[in-house]
Amino acid sequence: MEALLGPGSVLSDPEELLVYESDGLVLFRALADFVVFPTTAEQVSALVKLASREGIPFVARGAGTGLSGGCLPAEGGLVISLMRMNRVLEVDYENQIAIVEPGLVNLHLSWAVGPQGFYYAPDPSSQQACTIGGNIATNSGGPHTLKYGVTANHVLGLEVVLPDGELLWLGGKTRDAQGYDLVGVFVGSEGTFGIATKIAVRILKKPQAVRTILAVFDQIDQASESVSAIIARGLIPAAMEMIDAITIQAVNDAFSCGYPPDAAAALLIELDGLAAGIDEQVGRVVQACRDCGAREVRMARDEAERQLLWKGRKSAFGAMGRLTPAYMVMDGVIPRTKLPYVLRRVNEIVAAHGLRVANVFHAGDGNLHPLVLYDPRVPGEEGRVVTAGAEILKVCAEVGGSISGEHGIGLEKVDYMPFIFSEADLACMHRVKEAFNPTGLCNPGKIFPTRKACVEVGPAYRPHPIEEKGLAQRF
Ligand SMILES: Cc1cc2nc3c(=O)[nH]c(=O)nc-3n(C[C@H](O)[C@H](O)[C@H](O)COP(=O)(O)OP(=O)(O)OC[C@H]3O[C@@H](n4cnc5c(N)ncnc54)[C@H](O)[C@@H]3O)c2cc1C
Repeated sequence: MEALLGPGSVLSDPEELLVYESDGLVLFRALADFVVFPTTAEQVSALVKLASREGIPFVARGAGTGLSGGCLPAEGGLVISLMRMNRVLEVDYENQIAIVEPGLVNLHLSWAVGPQGFYYAPDPSSQQACTIGGNIATNSGGPHTLKYGVTANHVLGLEVVLPDGELLWLGGKTRDAQGYDLVGVFVGSEGTFGIATKIAVRILKKPQAVRTILAVFDQIDQASESVSAIIARGLIPAAMEMIDAITIQAVNDAFSCGYPPDAAAALLIELDGLAAGIDEQVGRVVQACRDCGAREVRMARDEAERQLLWKGRKSAFGAMGRLTPAYMVMDGVIPRTKLPYVLRRVNEIVAAHGLRVANVFHAGDGNLHPLVLYDPRVPGEEGRVVTAGAEILKVCAEVGGSISGEHGIGLEKVDYMPFIFSEADLACMHRVKEAFNPTGLCNPGKIFPTRKACVEVGPAYRPHPIEEKGLAQRF
């Protein structure tokens, strides 16, 4: 591999490999034999051909911010990090297309095209770190998904290395490519159909006007009801995010972002579009919130206040470190109208397991993110977290929703696929997987269980050797 990539591009030291044993879902861990850092599509292709010839499993990794264990080497082998392939290769402003490498950090694309008045719309809350390659694989959403759609709605074409090492383009620079929609098939395939090495995406003109509103509620049900009330009045905000009391405490402590500390819930609502008519829409949103019992509704006065409100929302997961040593993020989807019922059930389930939950989520499209808080040092607590998580996803499925809105199935949810898919559905998906990945070497153990997977589940907390000697205090 060093001969293929050059020096400094292959890790095999066990301590360095530890860095790659997990993603954002720290409950699951698996060690690679090697982590490699290609810089070109041709190198990715050569690595995959080598792995395929030698029967070595391999998995693509972006920034490792995934929340379902998707980039873990479940059967060992190679982790192929795309982080050194991080350039914007081409921007065609007239046709609103950018071609980027997969390791480009999501937000860096908007920074690159921003001075010309453009941006990249899919904005996962992790956008300061996650890569466009990881976004493609998980079909990422984000706060602005409500109006602008998920990643799949913004990808036109992909250069991919198939699991046998062949390098080819799926789709292209136009929207109506003929033949099967293989871009649509690849986006969301969680790295099991090959590795994306170039990505052609749409970029959008920045909206003429933006208004950001904070609505504050004394009861969480009132906030849930406001979400449906706003949509029922024919309004489609660009974003509609809910934050509950525990989350407000965490983000206020961390960033002093001005959410009322005694509120039961807050909605962060953003409207954008043409300047003409936007303030009339703001008035209708404010009225809908008041009709549902909001005690306070106010608009960000300037860009600085808007950014602070968004910082609270987008950094909420990280801020949880103020309240808990660890948490597991769930990712269910439900019909919007079921929000009050499901949030109540989430609280009941978590309390029944003796745990606490914080809720911060994309309320507008019914994409829940209960954060189940736990302490990995308490024996048995991780097991209860996993059980509570399964019960929450079951409720989401029962009300007509789904077990993942954006984080993917990965390792975490392989056993929950039957909650939403029949045997025939699963068999059909298996056949598609076989067509792309007949050897099963490309990201094994994900989406469907495999017998060979060697994954450790909890305890995530392992004392560092110096802690064991009593020299350091971790928390
Ligand atoms: C604080 C926080 C907030 C988050 N908020 C959101 C959110 O709002 N919306 C959302 O959708 N997600 C969110 N996530 C989850 C995560 O950021 C996304 O799933 C993201 O797309 C993962 O990107 P990554 O580069 O970190 O990928 P990784 O975690 O490295 O990998 C994720 C998957 O992508 C595959 N992959 C990576 N690169 C490639 C490639 N080039 N070709 C093929 N497969 C590839 C991997 O094999 C794996 O299956 C959040 C995570 C955190 C930690």
